[in-house]
Amino acid sequence: MLIVGGGMAGAMLALLLRHHGSGPVTLVESHPLTLPDAPPLTPSFDARSTALSAGTLQVLDMLGLGQALREHAAAIHTVHVSRQSRLGITRMRAEEEGLSQLGAVVENRWLGYVLLQAVYADPAITVRAPARLTGIRRRVDGYEATLDDGDTLHTPLLIAADGANSQTREWLGISARRTDLGHDALIANLALDGDHQGIAYERFLNQGPLALLPLPGQRVALVWTGPRAQVDDWMQQDDDTLLTTLNECRPADAPMLTAMGQRQRYPLVLSHACAQAVPFAVVVGNAAHTLHPVAGQGFNLTVRDLTLLAEQVGGAQNPGDLTRLNAYVEAREADQALIGQASRWLPELFRVQQPLFAHTRQLGLVALDIFPGLRRGFARRAMGL
Ligand SMILES: Cc1cc2nc3c(=O)[nH]c(=O)nc-3n(C[C@H](O)[C@H](O)[C@H](O)COP(=O)(O)OP(=O)(O)OC[C@H]3O[C@@H](n4cnc5c(N)ncnc54)[C@H](O)[C@@H]3O)c2cc1C
Repeated sequence: MLIVGGGMAGAMLALLLRHHGSGPVTLVESHPLTLPDAPPLTPSFDARSTALSAGTLQVLDMLGLGQALREHAAAIHTVHVSRQSRLGITRMRAEEEGLSQLGAVVENRWLGYVLLQAVYADPAITVRAPARLTGIRRRVDGYEATLDDGDTLHTPLLIAADGANSQTREWLGISARRTDLGHDALIANLALDGDHQGIAYERFLNQGPLALLPLPGQRVALVWTGPRAQVDDWMQQDDDTLLTTLNECRPADAPMLTAMGQRQRYPLVLSHACAQAVPFAVVVGNAAHTLHPVAGQGFNLTVRDLTLLAEQVGGAQNPGDLTRLNAYVEAREADQALIGQASRWLPELFRVQQPLFAHTRQLGLVALDIFPGLRRGFARRAMGL
């Protein structure tokens, strides 16, 4: 099988396919990979951090990678959701779910290191990096793909995992609906003056949501979203000025933020492929759906997709059979729609300023905190359990 894109989705799928008994897999990545000497630096495995749900951690454990991952990850014991200058806080706690942790936060480069080390360790996975496809051609039993070094590969299943602007998806004739939110996410690692105690803070501000995710040591990963002009302003401010603003916005019981690492920004463009399967080809990860990072669900949703896809095609005689691929797409539809809509509407809902909305929102947060059953349903869905 041939996977185009060696980012989070592509690397994870290669491992899952092998776990489910697939034959040889080729992974084509356009960026150079520095393994095995150092963590990779690619558009997927970059300066960001990713909140992995308990469900994703279970999948990594199944692949035998949980231990290596946890060496450089911080456990999430509590998720704390609040709205600036309003009452109403809800806390979701691991013990309420009977779990030792709700999830974990890992820096993307370490996640890449763990995934790609395992990819390189499997002799049945061939990595071609840096390499690009220059074209694909439909055959009676699959696809023929040409690489930029002139090599031709034949595959019974072509998997497009080459990100939101997937060239492979385009070549397959699949369009994508794109919505530019006009907002960007600013990310940076921050130092604290105390222990974060494994609390992930999600705070809804007037401009957009702010997340502080626990990292190993006294550090958190910041994901702060706002209108593009506002993010321009944040990017230009010096560290002390921005830290003062952040400390004013942070939840009162969170530790003080004392220092800031390098800042990066990401445009928030949501996209959704109009189809995810055609004969002998399937579209996954950001190439299939790109979400608002508000609740840290993009990769977790993808892992649930990939786990089912690998189960269904891993050991199959004819993995590119459209009936099989359509059954996979249908089975994943409801989860993708629910998580996609929730991550789209959550920031909108919290941005609305009308008093009635503000009151309802407040009630919603208070209700979630008072009724453990309601909160549990919410938490279990977000954790992918
Ligand atoms: C600010 C931010 C924070 C986030 N936080 C979280 C979080 O906490 N939890 C969570 O679950 N999700 C989170 N996400 C979402 C998560 O990052 C995505 O789900 C994930 O990156 C999807 O991975 P991917 O491999 O599909 O795509 P990408 O990460 O875009 O990777 C695509 C890969 O394909 C390669 N490529 C591109 N074109 C070609 C080509 N032509 N040939 C070969 N290779 C190619 C690229 O180099 C890259 O390596 C966040 C996203 C953002 C923007």
